[in-house]
Amino acid sequence: MDIKNLQTPLYVLEHQKLEQNLHLLDTVQKESGAKILLALKGFAFQKSFDLVGKYLHGCCASGLHEAKLAYEEMQKEVHTYAPAFKENEIDEIISISDHLVFNSFNQWQTYREKAVGKCSCGLRVNPEVSSAPTELYNPCAPYSRLGITNVEFREDLLEGIDGLHFHALCEQDADALEAVLKSFEAKFGHLISKMKWINFGGGHHITRKDYDVKKLITLIKDFKSRYDVEVYLEPGEAVGWQTGVLVSTVLDIVHNEIDIAILDTSAEAHMPDTIIMPYRAEVRDAEARGEKEYSYRLAGNTCLAGDIMGDYSFDKPLKVGDQIIFEDQIHYTIVKNTTFNGIKLPDLAIQYENGTIEVVKKFGYQAYKERN
Ligand SMILES: *Cc1c(COP(=O)(O)O)cnc(C)c1O
Repeated sequence: MDIKNLQTPLYVLEHQKLEQNLHLLDTVQKESGAKILLALKGFAFQKSFDLVGKYLHGCCASGLHEAKLAYEEMQKEVHTYAPAFKENEIDEIISISDHLVFNSFNQWQTYREKAVGKCSCGLRVNPEVSSAPTELYNPCAPYSRLGITNVEFREDLLEGIDGLHFHALCEQDADALEAVLKSFEAKFGHLISKMKWINFGGGHHITRKDYDVKKLITLIKDFKSRYDVEVYLEPGEAVGWQTGVLVSTVLDIVHNEIDIAILDTSAEAHMPDTIIMPYRAEVRDAEARGEKEYSYRLAGNTCLAGDIMGDYSFDKPLKVGDQIIFEDQIHYTIVKNTTFNGIKLPDLAIQYENGTIEVVKKFGYQAYKERN
């Protein structure tokens, strides 16, 4: 089947490219001794889980929905972390998770009794160093809620804790990990020998062409030789990196001093990073405005004025019905399909004049699962 005959908008995952990424990640596992998990936040593409599960050890989930999806559809290790677990979800999360990572001593104390003996429990710490590209993606930014800082740490409450977890990177190379590890060891190193595992989080851009895979392997091997612990990595983006496209169609071309192509996709509704990062997607056969002969603004089919992917130029004039292919849109772009981290959509209720409230629509796990 030719892409040209398919209904758009459409994500196309390229199976072979995903397998190449998984192959490289597996090499890292084999040579370093670390175990690698898929972070579902960046790549919860359910129909690829059979393939992913052939290579990786399981999934890291951020809450009930992702944990259930991992448990049901990949059936390998499930590691669950959330900034805060909910009382009405924790029992189910415990019943399907192998590792459970708490974000505060308060959460740990609240759920300790339920979790110990059923999951291997850990704490997320904040190594307070990172070089993430923007504050939006920096878990170690000032006032971060993600992970326990050194001054807030309670060594008297460690009984039952098997592991420490940190996540401080975003699209970064092995030298950034080296800097984070240095700080992590300076702050928490004396605790590592008491642990069974250390989770190095995600943000390792392992499958990017110029990533220093050798250095990563050396860092992990050195770490494992200094401390006798399991090491986990949980990349999301590196799994889905450069594995497919978002295909859209030109619906109309309007003119307001410049030519503007209206597409059947949307930056706001489908490609959030183009607005919030902000980030510019590569478009197949296109360059920046003015580089090729025919320039257009590519914009979404919504009523939001700022629903714009960017300005691009082409060799030939665009016409209605042409396909526009956005490159490398499989990781993270699909977060609107997967409700970012599988976070539950708010239920809907109506409050009547007499004060009664009727819940008219509930969204649960099935609603999430059917979206990806
Ligand atoms: C986002 C996230 C990941 C995955 O990060 P990538 O940049 O996609 O590799 C892993 N672990 C945690 C805790 C995260 O928040």
